[in-house]
Amino acid sequence: MAKRELRYNPLLGQWVMVSSERALRPWRPSDKCPFCPGSGEVVFKGNVAVVPNKYPVLTPDAAAIVGGGRFFKKCPALGACYIVVETPRHGVSDLCELSHEEMRAVVRAWVELTKELSRSGRVNYVAIFRNRGEEVGVSLSHPHTQVYALPHIPLKVRVKLRNARGYYLRSRECLFCRILREELSDGARVIYRNRDFLAFLPFYANWPFEVHVYPVRHIKLLTELSDSEVSYLADVLRAITGALNALFSRPMPYVMFIYQAPLKGEYEYFHLHIEFYPMLRDRDKLKYAAGIELGTWDFTYDGVPEENARELRRACRKALEERYINGPVLGSCN
Ligand code: ZN
Ligand code: ZN
Repeated sequence: MAKRELRYNPLLGQWVMVSSERALRPWRPSDKCPFCPGSGEVVFKGNVAVVPNKYPVLTPDAAAIVGGGRFFKKCPALGACYIVVETPRHGVSDLCELSHEEMRAVVRAWVELTKELSRSGRVNYVAIFRNRGEEVGVSLSHPHTQVYALPHIPLKVRVKLRNARGYYLRSRECLFCRILREELSDGARVIYRNRDFLAFLPFYANWPFEVHVYPVRHIKLLTELSDSEVSYLADVLRAITGALNALFSRPMPYVMFIYQAPLKGEYEYFHLHIEFYPMLRDRDKLKYAAGIELGTWDFTYDGVPEENARELRRACRKALEERYINGPVLGSCN
């Protein structure tokens, strides 16, 4: 019987997802990809297949905790883990190689999953993320996003909520809308924009080429996206991944995370956004989260954000001109 539970760290207010099954995950099986058509594990609708994660850290039927400790707190690992397989084509290396239509279908799958999970009543947070590259521990190279339905609000999201709420109470304004306005009016760190989204290397970036993507309209959840916003989100994600891969003319390892509001409660001051943490600081140099980063959560930044933004904007133009992106885009990097 697999051991699966959530353990609480009272020092940090952090939940740790303990799963004995995770240790059994296959490491890059070279012969048989479970996400390829014909594997028996995926059914594609159009270019997308949504499947339960075979090695979930959270399950809808997690066993109740028997005989909790006197001091240390634990909870059943209630929730769900899904995989959104983004294309039947195994060799697609990143989102920019999907067509606009295919990328739109992927965004729609994220929206549908969020909608479905919010109906269950037991899920409090839908975490959607994408790991790209062996450097960030990708065990299956077939293009996919992961979706975790969590019973709790993750620590980093709680920190953002606390700061956004404080700012909102002081200024009667959304903190994210303010950041968006500041980045737009400064312009020095803007990488790409289209009608509904702005992508920028933030003033306070941690990673050398970190990119944040904000919808211009104040919305909290993927489920609030209009049809046109789905289309423009698909567009900005293709453009940014194209730019990241063009930057050093090689595949950029990165983590992408979609931050939505929690499902339970009122979070009017929260604003949907997406963050990319690219791992390279140069063509063959990785940026590591090491001593100061792990020990303090503060970051050292190698370089100057405005200069790196200029470089990444140049890469974005190159991506558009040299066909790093599959088909035309809807915005520009000027
Ligand atoms: Zn495959
Ligand atoms: Zn806002």
